[in-house]
Amino acid sequence: MPGQQRDTERDFDAVIVGAGLAGLYMLHRLRGMGFSTRVFETGTAIGGTWFWNRYPGARCDIESLEYSYQFSDEIQQEWEWTERFASQPEILSYINHVADRFDLHGNIQLETRVEQARFDEAENRWAIRTNAGHEYRARFCIMATGCLSCRNTPDFKGLESFQGESYHTGDWPHEGVDFHSKRVGVIGTGSSAVQSIPIIAEEAEHLTVFQRTANYSVPAQNKPLDPAVQSRIKADYAGFRERNSNSFFGTLGDFENAGPSAKAISPEERDRFYEAAWKRGGVPFLNTFDDLMIDKESNDTAVDFICHKIREIVDDPEVAERLIPRQTFGCKRLCVDTDYFSTFNRPNVSLVDVSENAIEEVTPSGLKLADGDDFALDAIVLATGFDAMTGALLAIDPHGKSGVTLSEKWSEGPQTYLGLAVSGFPNLFTITGPGSPSVLSNMVPSIEQHANWIADCLGYLHETGHERIEATRAAETAWVAHVNEVANGTLYPKCHSWYVGTNVPGKTRVFMPYLGYAPYVEKCNEVAANGYEGFELSR
Ligand code: FAD
Ligand code: NAP
Repeated sequence: MPGQQRDTERDFDAVIVGAGLAGLYMLHRLRGMGFSTRVFETGTAIGGTWFWNRYPGARCDIESLEYSYQFSDEIQQEWEWTERFASQPEILSYINHVADRFDLHGNIQLETRVEQARFDEAENRWAIRTNAGHEYRARFCIMATGCLSCRNTPDFKGLESFQGESYHTGDWPHEGVDFHSKRVGVIGTGSSAVQSIPIIAEEAEHLTVFQRTANYSVPAQNKPLDPAVQSRIKADYAGFRERNSNSFFGTLGDFENAGPSAKAISPEERDRFYEAAWKRGGVPFLNTFDDLMIDKESNDTAVDFICHKIREIVDDPEVAERLIPRQTFGCKRLCVDTDYFSTFNRPNVSLVDVSENAIEEVTPSGLKLADGDDFALDAIVLATGFDAMTGALLAIDPHGKSGVTLSEKWSEGPQTYLGLAVSGFPNLFTITGPGSPSVLSNMVPSIEQHANWIADCLGYLHETGHERIEATRAAETAWVAHVNEVANGTLYPKCHSWYVGTNVPGKTRVFMPYLGYAPYVEKCNEVAANGYEGFELSR
């Protein structure tokens, strides 16, 4: 607890793992409360997602004025976003600006990967070991390790033998990559691919896109941010944040709800709403009608609209058919693009379907498919995503009570109480852990809400003289059942996606995020107000 640390270089009130948006704000809160705190970060600098993902076209798809911290009105007022959806360099500058303003750097140890965390039951402290072999101790261990930080690199035979350059979108060279006069292959058609493909296509001599699953994508309609719009929102930023936080996803964006059901109106009227949503751009397309992710027939109306758009945009009908997604709309993360589909009209771009004819191996000179077809390439871009939500936590694989590891505990999929805590792992918290809205919300408010909840909880423990907090097994079981029940009432878990972990071979199929930001926040507040209901507190 504040002031109780022993060896100030090795023993802390709290250790935070990760220096992205979550770790930084958590540090700011705990330091403000007088807790000795150390952040460990693998990267050579802070920023998390926005430090690592520097591929061409990387930007957020939640509007900049929403995809930002709200804890400091000063920062909120002074920072001027230049585009409707901020680019990676702009978000990274913003994060650094916040860290400078609150003087956070001194408590962050960079280039340090946490490799092991073990709970010492006698001492009620975590022992945390880093890749340098050093051990640190802390009363509390807070995992701010990110939902989308553990890269998924498929185990392609021969990948190391490739004589050209290969890159993962989630670990992009800081100096950038020049694709001029190169034959480039992009593997994947998720959000990272959809953002980077149009830009790589402009540079490359030839771009081949290897697509396993066609994805739905709607235009971003990104544009410079109108200063008048920015001033209007800043004039009542608190009200703007409040309206967003009362919404289902914690974000509203530029959005018009067209009513409870896509089936309730005529096809012509419905298409007018879809057309308006398409023109406004962005993920809120998903919220055009309330039942799009509940009712398959309604969902099919969105499918029809988008497929019609793809056929309209793409000149070659065969290519258009290959780009038409076959799965339920929205059950894979909706992509948001700038000129994605029209890129396939370029003469230097080709699309290869690897759904049936899989990538068999990477050869020294390119890629070979199962049927023997091969493609000569100078560069390969792996836009193959992440071991989402659990990957970074299981890479550390904390040892809880009686030495039980998190991987043992989660052998049938993640089990948490509120996505914040795990029974059997006292004094361990996860920011935006599985079982919380996280990736199905605007992540920045979700991060702040979790960091605030954890900081308040630690403050409460200190005031009430408790040294230990642990989620009860009963509360955890009930929460996991509730997360599943809510998800199963929707179409979200219906297809193959990283939401259910099926993008990573061998991962248990479980729908991981919690659906419903506003009800979730209410539940967390209730738990705290009731003296941390569902947790066991001890001295
Ligand atoms: P991260 O930013 O992932 O930070 C976690 C940090 O922990 C990383 O720097 C990592 O190196 C470090 N770390 C992990 N394990 C260890 C370890 N063992 N030891 C030491 N350090 C470790 N969300 C949205 O809401 N809207 C968007 O538009 C949006 N766009 C995105 C675009 C991309 C390309 C990606 C990949 C994600 C996007 N997200 C978006 C999700 C995004 O991850 C979150 O919004 C947010 O940035 C997460 O912040 P974080 O601090 O929780 O995690
Ligand atoms: P992703 O959505 O998981 O996409 C990975 C792609 O790689 C998929 O098309 C996948 O195909 C393909 N793939 C994986 N393994 C393959 C293999 N062995 N052979 C062929 N193809 C393979 O990952 P991502 O694009 O990096 O995005 C992850 C998440 O990060 C997003 O959903 C989003 O939440 C966030 N993000 C947001 C933005 C933004 O616009 N703000 C941008 C980037 C990322 P299958 O679909 O068949 O598995």
